Amino acid sequence: MTAKIVEGGQRNSKTKRLRRLRTSIGERELDALLISQPENLRYLSGFTGSSGWLLISGQNAILATDFRYVEQAKGESPGFEIVQIKQELHDWLPGLVSDLGWHRLGFEANFISYDGYHKLGEATKIKQINLQLVPTTGIVEQLRSTKAPEELGFITKAVELADAAFEEAKPIIRPGMREKEIAWEIEKILRQEGSEGIAFEIIVASGPNSALPHARPTERMIRSGEPLLIDMGARISGYCSDLSRTLFLGKADRPFREIYDIVFKAQATAIEEVESGMDASQADRLARSIIEQAGHGDEFGHGLGHGVGLAVHEFPRLGLGSSDLLADGMVFTIEPGIYLVGQGGVRIEDMVVLENGKARVLTRASKDT
Ligand code: ZN
Repeated sequence: MTAKIVEGGQRNSKTKRLRRLRTSIGERELDALLISQPENLRYLSGFTGSSGWLLISGQNAILATDFRYVEQAKGESPGFEIVQIKQELHDWLPGLVSDLGWHRLGFEANFISYDGYHKLGEATKIKQINLQLVPTTGIVEQLRSTKAPEELGFITKAVELADAAFEEAKPIIRPGMREKEIAWEIEKILRQEGSEGIAFEIIVASGPNSALPHARPTERMIRSGEPLLIDMGARISGYCSDLSRTLFLGKADRPFREIYDIVFKAQATAIEEVESGMDASQADRLARSIIEQAGHGDEFGHGLGHGVGLAVHEFPRLGLGSSDLLADGMVFTIEPGIYLVGQGGVRIEDMVVLENGKARVLTRASKDT
């Protein structure tokens, strides 16, 4: 019984998403939109296969996929017309589009190769089909940036799972262990606790390696007093979490205690002061100004945070020059950092959701170093 209710609920949410998308398609005066970005595909249709295309118009919701995925598509995407395709996009799309009488077709400019685009143009010319291909960016991503309660539920579970895995791993970590060893311990715990694999490759970076924001775990043995930066995430029903903590295993060496306190203060201030209606670049400034005042502006070389959902990095982008507008329902990270090249770095990352204009912190993992 419960399963039925859930299924019905998911159907409803998909209908709502299609309705919102159709409004965007109408505003751009497109006859239809071709969607190929995998998370966008999953978001709109529920389809999780690795090869497929959506064609959405005012009337149609078509999921085109090849033989390998047809049965899966029928199961995962009720309400969609499943079209079995053969060969490449330019072989089947012009005919289908012409049958449906579409003339202005939007496509996702970031997810079609130049070669694919070129061949599509050639095929329509040869077949003498009157079709205008209109490049678009971020249409579905924009819809994805505000989360429905059902999505927030999955994200919250993914956050809780990463928090629990971090707390479980923490007592195991001791000087002399290798970065790779720690990353593997964390990965095992995440998987044992029910994460769908890992949301991204776990970062365990110690000493000077922690000054590289996206370091890969190495064979380096960790020592007490130096920073140990851990960045990890879980995945539940496709939704990700993202968590960073910096540990010291004992008393922090200078100057790391000092930069830890600055990053901590910058993060707490941003969480406290970020608001719906704010520019994402303005949100970035909340933390950046504190780090700049402490004399470390140049050592905070990335943005304050990013949206998290079906993708670990999605809209909004909180950073210098971002024009994204923050709104209730958005879920994103707040993760200032200071990186002293050759010495070490500190980053602290929590996930928040904007509700009633303010940030509610989802992450619970402890911050005692
Ligand atoms: Zn992150």
